[in-house]
Amino acid sequence: MDYFEYRDGQLWAEEVRVADLVEQYGTPLYVYSARTLARHFTAFDAALDGLDHLICFSVKANSNLSLLRQLGELGAGMDIVSGGELYRVLKAGVDPHKVVFSGVGKQDHEIREALTADILMFNVESSQELERIGRIAEKMQTVACISIRINPDVDPQTHPYISTGLKKNKFGMDMLEATGAYLMAKRHAFLEPVGMDCHIGSQLTQIGPFVEALEKLLTFVDRLGSSGVTIHYLDLGGGLGITYHDELPPLPADLGKAIAETVGRRELTIILEPGRAIAGNAGILVTRVIFTKKTPVKHFVIVDAAMNDLVRPSLYGAYHRIREVHPRGREPMKVDVVGPICESTDFLAQDRLLPGLAVGEALAVFSAGAYGFTMSSQYNSRPRAAEVRVDGDHAILARRRETYDDLIALEE
Ligand SMILES: *Cc1c(COP(=O)(O)O)cnc(C)c1O
Repeated sequence: MDYFEYRDGQLWAEEVRVADLVEQYGTPLYVYSARTLARHFTAFDAALDGLDHLICFSVKANSNLSLLRQLGELGAGMDIVSGGELYRVLKAGVDPHKVVFSGVGKQDHEIREALTADILMFNVESSQELERIGRIAEKMQTVACISIRINPDVDPQTHPYISTGLKKNKFGMDMLEATGAYLMAKRHAFLEPVGMDCHIGSQLTQIGPFVEALEKLLTFVDRLGSSGVTIHYLDLGGGLGITYHDELPPLPADLGKAIAETVGRRELTIILEPGRAIAGNAGILVTRVIFTKKTPVKHFVIVDAAMNDLVRPSLYGAYHRIREVHPRGREPMKVDVVGPICESTDFLAQDRLLPGLAVGEALAVFSAGAYGFTMSSQYNSRPRAAEVRVDGDHAILARRRETYDDLIALEE
């Protein structure tokens, strides 16, 4: 459920006409709905109501400060994967004790920054990383709380590029190696093993793989308990899918129920790291038609948003629903919606039924709130799009459009 709706024949973001935002801020333009974001976060929070829990928003899905601030105020923690994300989270006023740090390649300065900020825990992904954190914590004379990311070898049944919990993936440790890592951490004066985590993939549309991973982790938690390592935090990662097209993913409540049943009476704080399921449908990308072009075999709609603004179609062949901001009941035809970039992968949609569109007309690309702006670039020296946050009848510029000066600001 989101608050981008057609009323009186045109698209609204909450109580604001999208056409008015186009007028005021130009295109390409990301538009976020604060009410949708809150609704999705609250759905996760409520889903784990009966359990001690923490919902850590995955910052890489959408790292705009105004969204992070809003989620922080609602009580969210954050899942970060870099020092830059830690910087953003602290700037947004999020409680560092609710921050977990994931990622296979944490650098020394990032580890130091996280220890200085006193985050909740590091989700450690290799034995070398664990040793490195131990050494840095010792040098800083502080204790690093750690969780080991387990690779449970579970098939999430999603796109291969966003599967992360299979044996062949680079993420996490197998349980044998993790056992050694936990025992090493327990003996170490500057490491404290407090958690266990996994993240098996993204855009999951079934509960089964989550439960399978959770069962494997719980067996391991129990086994570690008998070796004297007590796990307090069990972090199941993110990955719950959303509806881009016709997918019917489980609701956060379904996931919560399955987790509660599987965890049983164990005394654990459950952590989830949803990104897409909170932010994905809380944002749209608005673009305008520059030209339409007919070749002997295709109709193209050339728009002012491109793969540098939203790379998911090019990168994963991802589907994003596209509709006119102001539908007029015209006959549909099959078109490719493409950007101005000099790459044949620069498309937002292929062979899509859309009405005959007019030059200058605005289109909304839906489900663009996660992995949209955060994956954007300046490729072809295109300044990045502006971001607007709508809350009720109020719109604020959450990030101004980049200028040509921004493009060269860091160069000699
Ligand atoms: C990307 C990522 C997430 C968020 O995944 P979503 O599919 O957006 O929910 C959570 N945890 C980790 C470790 C990740 O890498």
